Amino acid sequence: MKEFELIKEYFSFSQSHSDTVIEGVGDDCAVLSVPDKRQLVTSVDTLVDGVHFFSDIDPADIAYKSLAVNVSDLAAMGAKPLGFTLAIALPKVDTQWLEAFSYGLKQASETFNIPLIGGDTTQGPLTISVTVFGTVKTGKALLRKSAQLDDDIWVTGYLGDAAAALGLHSKLNQLNDAETYLWQRLLRPEPPLAFARKLSKIAHAAIDVSDGLMADLGHILEKSNCSAKIKVASLPLSEQLTEFVGLEGAREFALNGGDDYELCFTAKSSMRNKILNLAEDFKVNVHRIGSITAGEETDIQLLLDGKPFQPKRQGWQHFSE
Ligand code: ADP
Ligand code: MG
Repeated sequence: MKEFELIKEYFSFSQSHSDTVIEGVGDDCAVLSVPDKRQLVTSVDTLVDGVHFFSDIDPADIAYKSLAVNVSDLAAMGAKPLGFTLAIALPKVDTQWLEAFSYGLKQASETFNIPLIGGDTTQGPLTISVTVFGTVKTGKALLRKSAQLDDDIWVTGYLGDAAAALGLHSKLNQLNDAETYLWQRLLRPEPPLAFARKLSKIAHAAIDVSDGLMADLGHILEKSNCSAKIKVASLPLSEQLTEFVGLEGAREFALNGGDDYELCFTAKSSMRNKILNLAEDFKVNVHRIGSITAGEETDIQLLLDGKPFQPKRQGWQHFSE
């Protein structure tokens, strides 16, 4: 199969003509319109075989996750999706693999309502690079630097599930119900995109939790020049995670695991009801886990029953291990 046929067969599934996508796959560039009074936001993430995903899992899941992790960045800005491009290096043309990959990518594209508008296809070790484009109302992007003193700190969903699931890869044919749930959380992140768009009117700062809560909240603190207090007992833990690793283990994964693709955001305490109502409207779980405090040390104070809490693992510095 030639490169052009391959693109037509597997990567041309988006009906890409709309108010914002003027030209999609097929020309030298995609042509996008940015609506009046909106700004373009963009982000790219690359997934490498054996580093970011297990080679032997269903290509549909690999594709789904490649897009979901990028959509998570759009959610973290409170953005509306515009389109995405896919740069893919394939070791060989394996039509069965491509069929499944294309299926999973289309599924994610429809779930998050973001069309595939272009890309690049080359031969090489399996590498998947997705670039997403979205728009925000001018000046309304949810930035890391916008947290304010005394803001509440919130997270969506449950934390730690995906990180705990990594170890299940060696026993996939013998998972119990809780383990199956955890494995799905690793394979199929569901960033709360629609909820996040409405959040831009209500919240101050936001980040998606991809490297673990401590690390990612740390980025907000650093950019906003403040510190935080977190109540460990308020961390949202799924029943399945607690069943799998116990309460103590669950807290460790929630603080320092990765791959959650949930949102951590800050907002004034007067916004509590608005946030709870919005979460209900969008069927998103939200939990208030702490507050922003003064201090430029960007320190996260963990408290359990009013006393300092020391996590066992402190994996929250990049490249520390
Ligand atoms: P060029 O040589 O001008 O870069 P290509 O032959 O690489 O063009 O691509 C032809 C068209 O197919 C372009 O519109 C490009 O965006 C699109 N395309 C190529 N690879 C992919 C892919 N993996 N997914 C989506 N679109 C793709
Ligand atoms: Mg090209």
